[in-house]
Amino acid sequence: MRRICIVGAGFSGSVIARELAEEGLNVLVIDERDHIAGNCHTYRDEESGVMVHKYGPHIFHTANERVWEYINRFTEMMPYVNRVKATVKGKVYSLPINLHTINQFFGTSMSPVEAKAFIEDKARTDIKDPQSFEEQGLRFVGEELYNAFFDGYTRKQWGVEPSILPASILKRLPLRFNYDDNYFNHPYQGMPKNGYTAIMEKILDHPSIEVRLGSAYEYIDEEFTHVFYSGPLDRYFNYDIGRLRYRTLDFEEVRGVGDMLGTAVMNHPDPETPYTRISEHKHFAPWEAAKFEKTVAFREYSRFCEEGDTPYYPIRSLDDKVLLETYEKKAQKEEGVTFVGRLGTYQYLDMDVTIQKALDVAKAFLEKNRD
Ligand code: FAD
Ligand code: UDP
Repeated sequence: MRRICIVGAGFSGSVIARELAEEGLNVLVIDERDHIAGNCHTYRDEESGVMVHKYGPHIFHTANERVWEYINRFTEMMPYVNRVKATVKGKVYSLPINLHTINQFFGTSMSPVEAKAFIEDKARTDIKDPQSFEEQGLRFVGEELYNAFFDGYTRKQWGVEPSILPASILKRLPLRFNYDDNYFNHPYQGMPKNGYTAIMEKILDHPSIEVRLGSAYEYIDEEFTHVFYSGPLDRYFNYDIGRLRYRTLDFEEVRGVGDMLGTAVMNHPDPETPYTRISEHKHFAPWEAAKFEKTVAFREYSRFCEEGDTPYYPIRSLDDKVLLETYEKKAQKEEGVTFVGRLGTYQYLDMDVTIQKALDVAKAFLEKNRD
């Protein structure tokens, strides 16, 4: 039987599989892991009962109504607002940088208008068009806040000088002159009631979809009419012109009882603290957190991704971009294969963007192949 192969059972692969299956196509989804849901995989921790996000905390947020509707077809989204704290030099602050952070940090009680003028005065307004992370930070909040909240964290997170990272990384974070401490600006935000794996189970639950786990694409010896590949782009080509650089994460598990942090995420920007942040996963499900006596948290240590490690964050420095362009040219020439997703296109994509792109790719494919 001739069918479509989809490499990777994360959001990219699952959404494409579903869209094609609903149009009558036969789909095989493979993943080399022993579970579905890619890096969004969640599971119930046996000891505590807490829903754990295996590859790091995932909060669903979007401004895209179509994606919000799509995700709500496959799960009940529970109300959740991400409120992150940061410990800097022994004091706890509110993130993202907002009026509370500014007043706490400078020991002031400024109004929004006063704080805006105060920060504008501190900001490096001589930097007209910030290109790097460092320039963006200095232009955005000035030296003191930049050094306290961004410099150390970013060096630990990315392992390179903030001056060679793109400004876009920092543009992900809001700066507010009010007391709104919602980490995201998007109008829709929530957590899936039964975790992300349950969403993917539902998306993949279709008679025309077969899911095969523990199967690497490299070992599949079948003919397909088309392949959608959401694995690493450089891996597809056997790294023949070099490796695209990623950061990977090591998670250190910390167990306890009751409430360990009092919040879901505590960032640690200080350079002396070896990890970047710690997250206590029961707080990602506030509707059930009180049920669990035990608790589990994870410290995140970031380092360069080596052979055999899980690639997490594409670095996309200038060097990577040159290599990426060459791989992209090779990818365009590859007949019968579409490269998708975070790894397949070597981009930092949030879940909502991943879903939108997957819907678009599936639509374009179906339109092109309609007879
Ligand atoms: P993945 O989820 O990476 O899936 C790719 C799959 O392909 C994997 O399961 C892999 O095993 C499989 N695969 C790869 N190569 C092969 C091969 N050769 N053969 C077989 N299988 C293969 N987004 C948000 O919106 N909110 C958040 O809060 C958020 N937090 C994040 C935190 C961290 C630490 C990270 C790293 C990312 C976060 N994201 C977040 C982004 C989110 O993880 C991605 O948007 C999403 O996982 C992308 O889905 P994907 O299917 O493209 O890739
Ligand atoms: N960042 C920082 N200090 C913080 C939080 C974030 O310097 O306390 C920087 C860091 O470089 C990070 C980027 O801002 O990679 C984007 O932050 P976000 O919280 O979106 O990171 P992610 O959840 O993607 O790891």
